[in-house]
Amino acid sequence: MIKRIFIGTAWPYVNGDLHIGHLAGYLIPADIFSRFCRLKGYETLMVSGTDCHGTPITVEADKRKITPQELVEEYIPKVHEFVKTYQATYDIFTSTTTENHKKITQEFFLNLLKNGYISKEKSYQYFSPEENRFLPDRYVEGECKFCLAKEQRGDQCENCGRSLEPGDLLNPKSKLKGTPVILKETEHYFFDYPKLQKEIEDFVLNSNHWREWVYKETLGFLKEGLKKRAITRDIDWGVPLPKEKIPKNFLIENIEEKRFYVWFEAVIGYFSATVEWAEKNNKSWEDFWLDPSCRHYYFMGKDNLIFHTIFWPAELIGQQKGYNLPYFPAVNNFLLLEGKKFSKSRGIHIDSLEIAKDYGVDYVRFYISSILPENKDADFKWQEFKETINNELVDKIGNFIHRVLVFYEEKLNQKIENENLAQEVLNKTEEVFQKYEKHLEKCEIVHAFNLVLDYVGFANQYLDREKPWSLKNKEKIEEIIFSSLQIINSLRIMLWPFIPQSMDKLSKILGLKIEPKVGQNHFVFQKIENIKLREKPTPLFEKERKIVT
Ligand SMILES: [Zn+2]
Repeated sequence: MIKRIFIGTAWPYVNGDLHIGHLAGYLIPADIFSRFCRLKGYETLMVSGTDCHGTPITVEADKRKITPQELVEEYIPKVHEFVKTYQATYDIFTSTTTENHKKITQEFFLNLLKNGYISKEKSYQYFSPEENRFLPDRYVEGECKFCLAKEQRGDQCENCGRSLEPGDLLNPKSKLKGTPVILKETEHYFFDYPKLQKEIEDFVLNSNHWREWVYKETLGFLKEGLKKRAITRDIDWGVPLPKEKIPKNFLIENIEEKRFYVWFEAVIGYFSATVEWAEKNNKSWEDFWLDPSCRHYYFMGKDNLIFHTIFWPAELIGQQKGYNLPYFPAVNNFLLLEGKKFSKSRGIHIDSLEIAKDYGVDYVRFYISSILPENKDADFKWQEFKETINNELVDKIGNFIHRVLVFYEEKLNQKIENENLAQEVLNKTEEVFQKYEKHLEKCEIVHAFNLVLDYVGFANQYLDREKPWSLKNKEKIEEIIFSSLQIINSLRIMLWPFIPQSMDKLSKILGLKIEPKVGQNHFVFQKIENIKLREKPTPLFEKERKIVT
């Protein structure tokens, strides 16, 4: 039986770019799922934080001629504002710069070393003769040798999704200087993935409940055979190595000048954040990492797939402590903007905070929920945004709620003597709750969303067909309005994960509250009686008229 749920979401880089791809890629789907789990009565823990290391940070800092530390301090508050604005239900939102994270990362490494999964090897890295230093992969640009896509970064090809090793780029150049770079020998620690090939394969083959494309893509990577990968880099910004705890014969050259590679270290944040949360709240991290009935969900964009389906599971298995492995990597495809890839420099960009300010958080959450790129790339279109708000949210959902509440107040004076529930409303509501749960348990968020829209369609048809405003029979009128109030109450629960602000507002009008409680499932039909409105009903939503396309 499932009781506990762990949710890890991608850690936003603090390089200042929080476009709406971040909303669709992890923040909104993760928060919908988190709210669902909480209302379902699961003990839920959602963690993340700012990803402060790695070359996206140093590249940006170099560009602006400030230190990485200054850059991080400048942008962390912006990420916190982003999380707060969208009301994401994190239990902890920390950072990879904490002492706790550093300590746990080093422990993870030492365990892997002790268990025989780390080797030290000399390898070739990109080196810029012009700048006289090793260049991190992201500072290097060239042609992917596998698919020949141009302008790919040294660590990953965005076109074919492969993670790239030094030497996998044709005609590599320094991103900052534009000058050619060469390969030069340097010593590093490597993660011996081939040793875990069999265990990772078993883990993935046992996970055929994943989204089909995620499952297939992961198997594809495994079929190519896992290779050793460097987990340290010649860089001075990041988590340092625990030199004094490494056996002498295992030290590498110039160890003080190296740091853990960010892909190795940032995922450990899921674990270290849990430990930090447990310490601060007097809880037990073991409940989430050692209780095998706790299911682990991860939300991220597809550029992070391999890190969560292969590399992170391998780091966990390599600890040999029985830590829970990912149960479901909710990987999302990309969000495009009017058919084009986001690019701040080319002006193809919508800032997450600005759009929230301009149109309201729930409008953005509502539209993004309708187009989440779960199985293929999705496209943000301004015209469609406007139509979805006006036609679905305002005309169908808002209008139904408003019509019923106004009738209840004005014609029935908020009194219903015969609280009869129409059988068809009861049947439909129970059916929708059941399907809704089923879809969300599988992270089929768009399906669940469409199901709620269908339910609203049913509600409007029911009201239009029964026409309580033209009837004389009081008992019948009461039955219709009582039944419609039950629909509103059910909608309030179903829509809360999607548009929490509006549903909290509706709850207030109805004199109710939405309070998740461990062990209590809200997704079962519950009749509410004697509703007393706390304020005069006003429309919950207004039509969007600002967008001109
Ligand atoms: Zn490629």
